Amino acid sequence: MFDALKRWGRRRVLARSALPDALWDGAVASLPFVADLAPADRARLRDLVVLFLDRKSIVGAGGHDVTPSQRVVIAVQACVIVLELGLDWYDDFESVVVYPDEFVPGWTWEDEAGVVHAADGPLAGEAMPGGPVVLSWPDVEASADFEAAGMNLVIHEFAHKLDMRDGDANGCPPLASALEVRAWKTALTAAYDDFVARVDRDEVTAIDPYAAESPGEFFAVLSEVFFASPATLAGDYPDVYRQFATFYRQDPAARAGAPRRG
Ligand SMILES: [Zn+2]
Repeated sequence: MFDALKRWGRRRVLARSALPDALWDGAVASLPFVADLAPADRARLRDLVVLFLDRKSIVGAGGHDVTPSQRVVIAVQACVIVLELGLDWYDDFESVVVYPDEFVPGWTWEDEAGVVHAADGPLAGEAMPGGPVVLSWPDVEASADFEAAGMNLVIHEFAHKLDMRDGDANGCPPLASALEVRAWKTALTAAYDDFVARVDRDEVTAIDPYAAESPGEFFAVLSEVFFASPATLAGDYPDVYRQFATFYRQDPAARAGAPRRG
């Protein structure tokens, strides 16, 4: 019954809220790794984007007006990582907040001695457990082209949201079984230790050295690489690539190598 109701609601939203071709085509053209999707997957992604925009509010802050095309560019990247997982993975928050530039977060934290600290800021993006995703628009825009920027801010922050589904962003999102958790931790820990050592000896890496910050950042940064430059991750850390392919239920390296269709 509940499933039938859900399906009906979904059909109603899709019928009511068409996404104009110009907005969709513009967003896909600006994101090469989305253009690699097979036509059927791209059509499913488009439906997911419509549902995402219906469920979430994408609001400006700090004087920023979010344009319709900015909403779609953000939604496409948020949705591509849950294309096979589903939007329910995002049901713990309602808003995406977009600033006109990097921002200083308002939160504070208290240390063991009871001293309250403010964040150093400014940040390009932030994901809060149970709260909104916050993005700086110029950084979203710059990082749409992974080849040029070497990072993808939207995928990074939304990957943190997946990781936070079971608590802190510790680099291990909820997995189906204890066996999977063990395999995940084995692959990710070995890769993380190797990457930290490479960064410590000042090796120039194709993967953003920010990934060495913590296991949580390692997962978020490597998720960017998995989707936007999959051959890099498959080459550097094939075991992590396999874990991510199982978790996200996608194989971006296979489609990036395939001839582009339609
Ligand atoms: Zn991060």
